[in-house]
Amino acid sequence: TPGIQVLTETEVVESCGRVGAFRTVLQDKGGRKRAVEHGVTILATGAAAASPAEYCYGQSDRIFTQEEFEEVLAQFKLPKDRLKTVVMIQCVGSRDEKRPYCSRVCCSAALKNAFKALEWNKDARIYVLYRDLMTYGFLEGYYTRARAAGIRFIPYRPERKPEVSIQEGVPVVRFQDPILQREVQIRAEALVLSTGMVPPEGTEGLAQSLGLDRNPDGFLLEADAKWRPVDFLKEGVFVCGTAHSPRSIAESMAQAKSAAQRALAILRREEIFSARMVADVKRSICTLCETCVAVCPYEARSVDTEEGMIVVDQAACQGCGACAAACPSGAAFVRGLEDKTTMAVVEATLEDAFAHI
Ligand code: SF4
Ligand code: SF4
Ligand code: SF4
Repeated sequence: TPGIQVLTETEVVESCGRVGAFRTVLQDKGGRKRAVEHGVTILATGAAAASPAEYCYGQSDRIFTQEEFEEVLAQFKLPKDRLKTVVMIQCVGSRDEKRPYCSRVCCSAALKNAFKALEWNKDARIYVLYRDLMTYGFLEGYYTRARAAGIRFIPYRPERKPEVSIQEGVPVVRFQDPILQREVQIRAEALVLSTGMVPPEGTEGLAQSLGLDRNPDGFLLEADAKWRPVDFLKEGVFVCGTAHSPRSIAESMAQAKSAAQRALAILRREEIFSARMVADVKRSICTLCETCVAVCPYEARSVDTEEGMIVVDQAACQGCGACAAACPSGAAFVRGLEDKTTMAVVEATLEDAFAHI
C-alpha cells in the first residue's frame, strides 16, 4: 500500500517531540540508524508466549504448549494413537505470585485444540484440568459444546496442583479428583500445557525511550482505563492489542480500530492547539531545583541549560497542576488557576454550600 513502510528487525532507540511533531530514531540489525518524523505513534507490539518451567516440559516429545499442539495438529504430524488420551493443564505459570494475571485466551485455545484433536481422532479421551474456565461471553457456548462432546473438565486447587512424571517416555499425570475424592493417575499420550502471555522482550526499553508507563505486570499502561483506554498520558501516543494486556484477536482488532480513530482525529487537523490552561514559571523566584520537571507526567517541562531556566512545552502541557503543587518556591503555576483565582472559586463554592445548610 502506498504510504506504508514496514521495517522489520528494527528497534526504536530514541524518541522525542510531542503530538504532531515526534521524531523517532530507528536502528536496524546492521546498526544503521534513521530518523522518522511523525505526528502520532501507535504501539501494537504484541505479547510473547510464556515458556513453561514445570510439569516436565522439555523432557518428553509428548509434552506441548497449546501453541505447539495447535501446530502439530494443523500439520497432521501426530499419529492417531498419540491422541488416544490427551491431558490439558490450565493456568500453567499463570495466576500465581510471580504472574498473577489471567491471560484470558488460553482456556479458549484449549477448547479449540480439544475439538481439533477430536476431529483427528473421534475416540480421543480428553481431560482438561482447570482452576477456572475463562470462556467468557459467547465462548460459554463453546464450553457447553465441549462438555456435550465428552471432553472431561476436572477442577484443581492451586494449593494442590497436578503432578507430572515421565514413565517409559510417557507423561503420567496425577491429580486429586474432587468428585471421586481420591487421587487419579492418567497416562497421557499427549500432555498439553496452557501457558499464558508475557510482555515481549524490549517492552521496558521501548517504554523508557518513549516515556511511557507500564503496569505491575510489565504491559504498557493506558492513561485511564475508563475514559482514555487506548491513550497514554503522553498526548499523541496510543496502544492497542496485547501490548496493553492479554486479549483475544477480536478484542485486539476492536482496540486497534479505536486507536486508529484516535490517531486520525489528530492527523486530520491542520493545526494542534494547546490545552486551554497551561503551566508557566515565575522565573524571578524559580530556584531551578527541577522538582517540577521530575513530577510532570507529560514530560512538558525541561531545563533550558543555555538560558538557565525552566521551559514549558505548551503543546505537551495538559494543565494538570502537578508542577504547581510540587514546586517548593511557588514559581510553577497554571495560567488561569493562580492562587487568587483558585481561592476565589473555593470561597464561592463554600458560600454556595453554606447557603444551603
Ligand atoms: S485463560 Fe484460562 S488457562 Fe489462561 S490464565 Fe486464564 S484461567 Fe488460566
Ligand atoms: S501543568 Fe505542569 S505538571 Fe501538568 S502537564 Fe503542565 S507542566 Fe506538566
Ligand atoms: S519546582 Fe519550582 S522552583 Fe523548582 S525548578 Fe520548578 S518552577 Fe523552579
